[in-house]
Amino acid sequence: MTELRNRLRWPAIARILLFLLSVGAFLAGGNVAANYLIETQRERQLEEFGNIALRRSETAVFYGISTLRDFAQRGNIGCDGGALQSVRLFVYRSGAMKDIRIVRPDASVVCAAFSETLEFDKGWATRAEMLPSVGGASRLFRVEQFFGTALGAMIDVNSEYSLVGIMSVDGSLIDVMPSELRNQSVVALELDNGQTIARTASGAVVGDDTTIRLSTESERYPLRTVVRVDKAALAAWNRQPYMPIVLASGILGAFFGLLLARSLFRPMSPLEELDRAIALGHVRPYFQPIFDLRTGEITGAEVLARWIKPDGTVISPARFIELAEDSGRIADLTWQLLSTALAELRPLLTADKNFCLSVNISPPHFVSDGFIQKLRETTAAANVATRQITLELTERQSFEDPGLAAAVVAEARGYGYKVAIDDVGIGHSGLSQIQRLRADVLKIDKFFVDSVNLDASATAMIAMLVRLAREMGMRVIAEGIEEQAQVDALINCGIAYGQGYVVAPPLPQRAFLDLVASRAGGQPAQAATRAA
Ligand code: C2E
Ligand code: CA
Ligand code: CA
Repeated sequence: MTELRNRLRWPAIARILLFLLSVGAFLAGGNVAANYLIETQRERQLEEFGNIALRRSETAVFYGISTLRDFAQRGNIGCDGGALQSVRLFVYRSGAMKDIRIVRPDASVVCAAFSETLEFDKGWATRAEMLPSVGGASRLFRVEQFFGTALGAMIDVNSEYSLVGIMSVDGSLIDVMPSELRNQSVVALELDNGQTIARTASGAVVGDDTTIRLSTESERYPLRTVVRVDKAALAAWNRQPYMPIVLASGILGAFFGLLLARSLFRPMSPLEELDRAIALGHVRPYFQPIFDLRTGEITGAEVLARWIKPDGTVISPARFIELAEDSGRIADLTWQLLSTALAELRPLLTADKNFCLSVNISPPHFVSDGFIQKLRETTAAANVATRQITLELTERQSFEDPGLAAAVVAEARGYGYKVAIDDVGIGHSGLSQIQRLRADVLKIDKFFVDSVNLDASATAMIAMLVRLAREMGMRVIAEGIEEQAQVDALINCGIAYGQGYVVAPPLPQRAFLDLVASRAGGQPAQAATRAA
């Protein structure tokens, strides 16, 4: 009882463990995948923010420099009243420009659109300190003023003059962060030399340990944007995909776990069980005596398959022979059974050269390629004479090609084997087939034996078969004899040999050999042991 409970419990626990393991593994995988996905997505978004800020700054610089170029081409460059007037007009028209200054090529200021603003400068860069843009057509530098920082851009006009535009670039230009991160991030616009031109307002984001820094370089100007975000704020941002991914992984894991648990612990199919039984030698030969009806002497035995389960249960062939035949396992089963039977009865077969062993052969196996060859090898390996072996052609499957069947029968008999037609009277073999096959033995089915004393037609049928056999030179064996009265009736019908519980049921080797030994010399059928 406890063992049964354990047997039931362990697979169930193993299944649950396997299921949980699969769910756990998928959840862990989902967690890693979701974090990875979210992180790469975040990185891409941060990069995108840096790009947007940079593009905006580049556009502002581009418009500033374009205004200067415009002025250089069309304006009146000089410091007299009229010229300054036209400079002021340009500054006025360009929104982002605070001032335009006319400078020497070495960057020293000559005059400005709004000369008063010069006083607000805290310093002024030399030409060498200004950073050239790609191609060198313009230079950028920081202008420190009392009211803040501005960006200066210089272009050369001729050997006498260059122009400088003072552009106001404030934090709002580069304020690109989403509202969730705005207070935990800073975006700065810097020159390549590290000088800051503008930054967004938040001052909360400081320190390299707690922030993530991402800088994006301009390909046109000596500019870069630097985005700094607080790590903790970033980690909490944009985590919406996390739960769905982890949840989907969990469901997938559950599904996979179920499949795995089912496939690993599903019970074996009947065919798998049979294969296992054949491979482990659990299909064993039992022996049922064939005896002389008059003397009771055992003259031979029929090999009948029994599947012995590990717990000792004996399974009848009715439950597995059909499966073996339909699945093509019957050949392996038959050869294994025949070799074992020959080995187990070897002393008897050697001592009594008239003792005959009958083995059941399915028709398709009988006519299959190499059957006779394999039969001869098996017989030779057991060192038994071919005439001591009878092949019983069972009748559940018929011969598709009776001509071929007759040829194989002839070949087998040519080598000395005997051939019996099994289940005569109820099987597929009609009289014409019996005539055509030219076998050595007819086995009359239990069906007729059962009614031999009760039904005149059964007796008539048996008498007819006996006559047919005699004419064709065949011996007759009656099967399924259970009573002495049947023995007597069969003798009266002219039958000499029989098989049935009246002597013994199919027995395992030891019991069979004991029975043969106890009956040596012959005794009436009735005195048989009925033990199985
Ligand atoms: P079968 O070849 O006609 O074998 C005779 C069957 O009648 C056996 O059943 C035997 O146990 C049973 N029998 C014998 N005497 C008596 C009796 O007095 N009374 C009763 N009621 N039954 C008796 P079993 O062993 O269950 O085999 C059933 C069938 O399975 C066999 O019929 C045979 O067709 C097939 N079979 C058994 N072993 C093999 C095998 O190794 N190969 C093949 N191809 N078929 C086999
Ligand atoms: Ca048989
Ligand atoms: Ca039979």
